[in-house]
Amino acid sequence: MVINEKQILQVNDRIQALLKADNFYGRRLKEAGIEGISSAEDFEKLPFSEKDDLRNAYPLGLMTAPEEEIVRIHSSSGTTGLPVIIPYTKKDVDDWAVQFARCYEMAGITPMDRIQITPGYGLWTAGIGFQAGAEKMGAMTVPMGPGNTEKQLKMMQDMKSTVICATSSYALLLAEEIEKLGIRDKIYLKKGVIGSERWGEKMRAAIQQKLGIELYDIYGLTEIYGPGIGINCTEGSGIHYWDDYIYIEIIDPVTGEVLPDGEEGEIVITTLVKEGAPLIRYRTHDLSRIIPEACTCGSAYPRIDRIKGRTDDMMKIHGVNVFPAQIEEVLKSFDEINSEYQIRMSHLEGKDTMRIYVETTGDVDFADLSIRIAAKIKSAIGFTPIVKPVEVGLLPRSEKKTSRVIDERYED
Ligand code: ZN
Repeated sequence: MVINEKQILQVNDRIQALLKADNFYGRRLKEAGIEGISSAEDFEKLPFSEKDDLRNAYPLGLMTAPEEEIVRIHSSSGTTGLPVIIPYTKKDVDDWAVQFARCYEMAGITPMDRIQITPGYGLWTAGIGFQAGAEKMGAMTVPMGPGNTEKQLKMMQDMKSTVICATSSYALLLAEEIEKLGIRDKIYLKKGVIGSERWGEKMRAAIQQKLGIELYDIYGLTEIYGPGIGINCTEGSGIHYWDDYIYIEIIDPVTGEVLPDGEEGEIVITTLVKEGAPLIRYRTHDLSRIIPEACTCGSAYPRIDRIKGRTDDMMKIHGVNVFPAQIEEVLKSFDEINSEYQIRMSHLEGKDTMRIYVETTGDVDFADLSIRIAAKIKSAIGFTPIVKPVEVGLLPRSEKKTSRVIDERYED
């Protein structure tokens, strides 16, 4: 997908705004000798930006619009070091809500729906984005925020919520609780909008089977508005994104070369109309591909495939690059286990080992299952992990991002 004339003009406009603001980012462009762009070739020469660059702009070095136009900041949940602060103008906040409302509409959600929102409100872009989009569209919201499962379930019943917005692990936790309490017939949910986490087919199937609802993947990241810049449609797993707000490229994560449509690589996003903190060629570290075929749903918005993982999730063991998604792919072919798993890499007795914990019921022969899973994983990734089946419920579930990969090799 080549950048079009209109998008080139929009990016040029953003570059001029950054140069004029002479902020952290503007100075970087100036140092790179950038004065503007007028063609697709110019665009491809623009330097990439990285989360680490944005951290260096802390606290407000990314602010590009005049102070009197900034109405809000959000912050990305940095687990290490400084967070990234993204300033928003009134237009940015509104543009985000418009995009989010489009997501709900793409999922077939209407003003007659009641949307229960469980992601957190605050500096994070999560809860407030789900909220603003729902209000823009005109649905009634039940703004719960995270946690307090008992109260969530009570409100879900009393308010007759028809849509649940949650992370995948919290949706699963709610689904398991509803099943355990036997209250499915008192729950009115029809759809789930799931964001902020990568999740596998097996987890999707588990939530779907326990709740009997349609599930939609919402895409986004704090640096680029937040969740709501894309969502899958009713026709499948491809995520439509709003190319009047963002331009997406897929690059080779190692060489930085732009890849042809259809090839898998790292998603790089340029904001086209963002005022508070425009970003040019921002490396997301999310892995996907552009789906070149037109969607059967009839929408003209382009699509990327479901997020396959993160470039920084890549595990290097025995000289092989392994992605959690590859392991997940194998695990989902075993009916004896559920969607929970944990990968632990350790350095034991002088060599690197990978242990994979999976959950199963007591009726299964653990030793036999372990051997069968290990063999199948070996044929997928090239070496044999140690597979440890455990009883259902033993692996950690979380209301936040669940870390399924633990690398103990380099810890003190
Ligand atoms: Zn579609």
